[in-house]
Amino acid sequence: MIKFKADCAGVIYDINYVDKNNPQIVDGGEVFNGRVDYEKTNIFVDESLSEDVKKKVILHELIHAYLAEVDPEQNIEAKVKIFTTIFFDLIRHNTEIMEYIAECRLEQNE
Ligand SMILES: [Zn+2]
Repeated sequence: MIKFKADCAGVIYDINYVDKNNPQIVDGGEVFNGRVDYEKTNIFVDESLSEDVKKKVILHELIHAYLAEVDPEQNIEAKVKIFTTIFFDLIRHNTEIMEYIAECRLEQNE
C-alpha cells in the first residue's frame, strides 16, 4: 500500500506501510523497521510501529535514498543515524524556519 511519494534528488520513491512479516523488511531472519529498495525505488516501513517511530524510519530511509544519489558508498549506517536525529529534530522543533526554507518564490529581478 503506497502511503506517500517522495522526490529524492529527482528520483521518485514510493513509501509503503507493510506488515512486519513482509519479506521486504526481513533479511536473513533479521527484521528491520524499514528498508529501501534503490532499484525499484521503494521504501517499506513496518506499519505496526508507533506514528513517531514510523516518521523517523521514513526519514532514515529517505536519507539513505538521498545519499545513494550523491555518494555511492553504502556502508554509511552510522552517518544515516546522525542525519536522522538532526533532521527529525530540525523539522519537528523548528517548523517555522523549515517552512521558510521550503518556500519557493521566483526571485524578482529589477
Ligand atoms: Zn539505515
